[in-house]
Amino acid sequence: MNADFSLSAIDIVTPGEVKADASIRIAEGKITDFSRSNIKDFNMGGSYTLFPGIINSHDHLFGTYFPKIGEGNYVCWLPWDYDLKASEIYQERNKNTPLDIYLLGAYKNLVSGVTTVHDHIPHQVNDPHADKLPIRVLTKYSLSHECSSYDLKWGDGIDVEYKRAVNNNIPYVTHIEEGWDTESLRGIDILLEHKALSEYTVLIHGIGFSKKDIKQVAKNKANFIWCPGSNMYMFDKTAKIKEILESGINTSIGTDSPATGELNILEEIRFGKKMYRQMYNEDLSDEQIVKMITVNPAKAFRVNDRIGSLEKGKIADLLMVHGSKKQAHALLVDATLKDIALVFLEGKPIYGDDDFGEIFKELGSEFSKIKIEGKDKLITGDPNDLMKKIRKAVGFQKELPFLPI
Ligand SMILES: [Zn+2]
Repeated sequence: MNADFSLSAIDIVTPGEVKADASIRIAEGKITDFSRSNIKDFNMGGSYTLFPGIINSHDHLFGTYFPKIGEGNYVCWLPWDYDLKASEIYQERNKNTPLDIYLLGAYKNLVSGVTTVHDHIPHQVNDPHADKLPIRVLTKYSLSHECSSYDLKWGDGIDVEYKRAVNNNIPYVTHIEEGWDTESLRGIDILLEHKALSEYTVLIHGIGFSKKDIKQVAKNKANFIWCPGSNMYMFDKTAKIKEILESGINTSIGTDSPATGELNILEEIRFGKKMYRQMYNEDLSDEQIVKMITVNPAKAFRVNDRIGSLEKGKIADLLMVHGSKKQAHALLVDATLKDIALVFLEGKPIYGDDDFGEIFKELGSEFSKIKIEGKDKLITGDPNDLMKKIRKAVGFQKELPFLPI
């Protein structure tokens, strides 16, 4: 049941402006307007700033485990994949049920403020789990693994998958040019040969993009996902992000799995900001970064009529962070796990500080209690029980730093 309620005395980041000391009203899981509800209002006391729930544009939830795998300095993703499958960590992960690993991935994302994730994997892998998870996993997409003769052959091939995307108005998602071998570097040419580069195309990694490739991606209005942590770990190099942004390509940020990427989206955006400064000796603006985890991915995945921004009629996926009356975008870009104050999915609280027990109870959300980095939190489902199951399955007191409970 979704009540009619509002949050008031809160700073609100909308696409065009930051509304200071404002209100937002929610009914039936959607944003009604920016007024106070006469049925139920929660006064936030001017101490918080509200963003849309974060969209993590690239993850492999079935790869949610730790520590990272591989030696780095790979020529392309393939020798890394051999290392992954030969590793003891991979064997250890596989002692768990797929659903438990999926739950780990969902909780990893949730505690960092993510309400929607794109899980890049064939549908038969994630479809059985998607509706059992505490956050939204995008299920409407077509895909390839990569666009090379030696890729993992996900989906039905470039032609069929791309056509499926266009016919159903869904994104066609693929890794691209994730390496330096001759075939990897032809990624964009291959997509052009298949007439599969357009606004429906979502391209992940692109570390091998030449200036010509970037021009083609921009000209054809394809979307780009930047995974700086994973790129640097595997290849000690990332995509030409400044050139990509300056060419006007719709660009988002994704974590990739913790097997190579940063621990969560908050770490990933900070890592990306640091990389940008190292590479270009200037700063990527906080406002730009916030777009790369909200409106930009909503557009890329063709769900911007529903999520990605705080606007009238959109689904009430909300992320409230500690702090207000400051540079609002910096509050999110600088946030760590302890700063995530309250998260709503479709108007229901699913994670937050334990001071918000009343909101969980009033809005009818079931929760359990956890401690994250020593702070008491309320959360939907039971991640403590999940960790017990994981530890029982692997036979020792496993610690997973992306879920520090
Ligand atoms: Zn990936």
